[in-house]
Amino acid sequence: MTHVSPSPTARISLVGAGPGCADLITLRGVRRLQEADVIFYDRLVDPELLALARPGAERVFVGKTPGVAAWSQARINRLLVAAARAGKRVVRLKSGDPGVFGRATEEIAALAEAGFAAEIVPGVTAASAAAAELGRALTDRASGRTLAIVSGHPATGAPPVDFAALARAEATLAIYMGVARAGETARALIAGGAAPATPVDIVERAGAPDARRVATTLGALEAAIRAHGVRNPAILLVAPPRRADAAAPLPAPVPALAG
Ligand code: SAH
Repeated sequence: MTHVSPSPTARISLVGAGPGCADLITLRGVRRLQEADVIFYDRLVDPELLALARPGAERVFVGKTPGVAAWSQARINRLLVAAARAGKRVVRLKSGDPGVFGRATEEIAALAEAGFAAEIVPGVTAASAAAAELGRALTDRASGRTLAIVSGHPATGAPPVDFAALARAEATLAIYMGVARAGETARALIAGGAAPATPVDIVERAGAPDARRVATTLGALEAAIRAHGVRNPAILLVAPPRRADAAAPLPAPVPALAG
């Protein structure tokens, strides 16, 4: 379907802004901001980042503000294509990593359809920032060898996430967009066999100076979110193993044979 980049000047970069604190963008991301003619940015992007852009660069907010009519993805795609056709150097600045729940596929496809190749500049995703906030690793070679990046908010028309399978998986779950439906998610994991005592860390605004952490369990997750007034953006890290039967005490060691 594609022939790529007919314009000699257009350059389109999907840039990861990091988790919401300006100094967590990459150096490459900053360079792209400095080269850009136009920057299309989201709500969760730190406004300080825009100050790093060239003074003459156009800055266009295309995010969703709660309560205000959202920019449709189709409209964003049209704007990106129009800017590329005009030969502009375009930065699409997205929170975290552009490739993690960032609608990058749709934008890359729309640009490709118009004949433009988009470059991706990776960013620090929320799960990494949350683990850093907790002062521990996201994976662990003994107890956390698998990491699942999960959406807690099903996309319209998409099949539901198989929480029963995730309940059985020996994986740390990093649940994005998971606050609003945390109760349903916790109940689905527990119904799938996860122990209600499974530890869950909620990290709000990871990476920002006002980040907050709440340590709770699957069984108490919904109540903890309410009690602490957890707000978006927040991520849930659910520890492995979760199986209710895994919490059973180990059998007593076989006594050593008397010599
Ligand atoms: N592309 C982004 C994710 C966008 S989806 C990334 O890679 O991080 C938006 C969700 O990301 C939010 O609902 C929240 O779950 C998570 N998120 C984004 N920034 C966050 C932050 N600073 N702290 C905690 N969670 C965050």
